[in-house]
Amino acid sequence: MTLILFPCYKAKKAREGSMVKKIAVFTSGGDAPGMNAAIRAVVRVGVADGYSVVGIQGGYQGLIDNDLVHLGPRSVSNILQRGGTILRTSRSEEFKTPAGREKARAILEEHNIEALIAIGGDGTFRGAVALSKIWKGKIIGVPGTIDNDLFGTDYTIGYDTAVNTALESIDKIRDTAEAHERLFLIEVMGRHAGFIALESGVAGGAEEILIPEYPCSLKDLSERIHERRKKGKTSSLIIVAEGCSEGGAYQVAEKLKRMEHGDYRIVVLGYLQRGGSPSARDRILATKLGAYAVQVVTQGISGVMVGEIAGNLVTTPLPDTWEKKKSLDKVLLAIAPALAT
Ligand code: ADP
Repeated sequence: MTLILFPCYKAKKAREGSMVKKIAVFTSGGDAPGMNAAIRAVVRVGVADGYSVVGIQGGYQGLIDNDLVHLGPRSVSNILQRGGTILRTSRSEEFKTPAGREKARAILEEHNIEALIAIGGDGTFRGAVALSKIWKGKIIGVPGTIDNDLFGTDYTIGYDTAVNTALESIDKIRDTAEAHERLFLIEVMGRHAGFIALESGVAGGAEEILIPEYPCSLKDLSERIHERRKKGKTSSLIIVAEGCSEGGAYQVAEKLKRMEHGDYRIVVLGYLQRGGSPSARDRILATKLGAYAVQVVTQGISGVMVGEIAGNLVTTPLPDTWEKKKSLDKVLLAIAPALAT
C-alpha cells in the first residue's frame, strides 16, 4: 500500500467514515532514539485529524496498571530531539500471561480506546498480536528498535542513530589502536542481526566484522590477522555483533588468545548505542511513520506494521515482521573482505 498523506483535510475526510475516536500510543521493549519523534507525530497528526490521543506510560505493564495520560499537542513539545521515550518503556512478564492480557483488554474498554499504536520491536508486536485475539480494537505497529531486525521496512527508528554512535566510538578506538599498534575487539549490539555491526564496521574501516547471520571460523580469522601483519598492518579492529556464532567480544578474544597468544583489547559499547539525540534520518523516519500510523487507523486497517521501503510508506502484517527475514546489504557483504586487505 502506498501513501497519500497530506494535506490533513484528506485524512479528516477519511475519518468521517470511520468509527475510531480515541487512539492510545505507547512505547515498549528496548528504547530507541526517535521514539519520542514518533510519539509527537502520532499526537499532533492524530489531534489535527480530530482524534483524542492518550499515552500509556511504561509499555504493556503500564496498560495493565491503568497508567494512562491524555496527550495534547503541548504535551509533546520539545521532545523531538530527545533520546529515550517520554512514555517510558518496560518488559512485562504479566502481559505474557492470558490473565495479564485480560486486564489490559479491560482497561482499553474502560477508556473506550478504539485503536492502539504500538512503538517497539518484534516482542512488542508479538504482544500486539496476542492482544488482538481478545480485543476488538485496531492495532498498528511502528518499528522502533536500534537493531533494524524487522521485515517490512528498510530501516527501523533508532537504527541510524545507533550506527552513528557505534561509528563515533570505532573512530576513536582506531586512533589508539594505531598509536599502540594494537588489535581491538569492539562489541556492538545485535543478538540476532548484524545490521549495526556490518554498517558501522564498513563505515569505520574495520578489518573484520563478525555477525550472527554467518558462522565465523576463528582459525581462518587468526590466519587473516597474521597475513595482514606480514603485509605491514600492525593494528586491527574487529567488530563483533553480540550474537556472533563464537560469542561476544570477550569469548572471541579468549579463543583467539589461545590460538595466537596475542594481545587484544576489548571494548563493549553496550547501552551507549541506545541513547543520545536521534539523527535527522531517525527523526524524519519516526515522523513519517507516526503520521502514517494515524492514517492507517483512519483507513480502518488493523494488525499491520507501518514501514518505509524504497521511499514508499507501506504496511506489513505484524506476524511477517518477525517471521520473514530482512536481508543484510548484499553489496556491503560482498565487498567488505576486499576492503580489509
Ligand atoms: P521488543 O519489542 O524491543 O522486541 P521485548 O521482546 O522485550 O521487546 O518485548 C516487549 C514486551 O512485549 C515484553 O516484555 C512482553 O510484555 C511483550 N511480549 C513479547 N513477546 C510476547 C508474546 N509472545 N506474547 C505476549 N506478549 C509478548
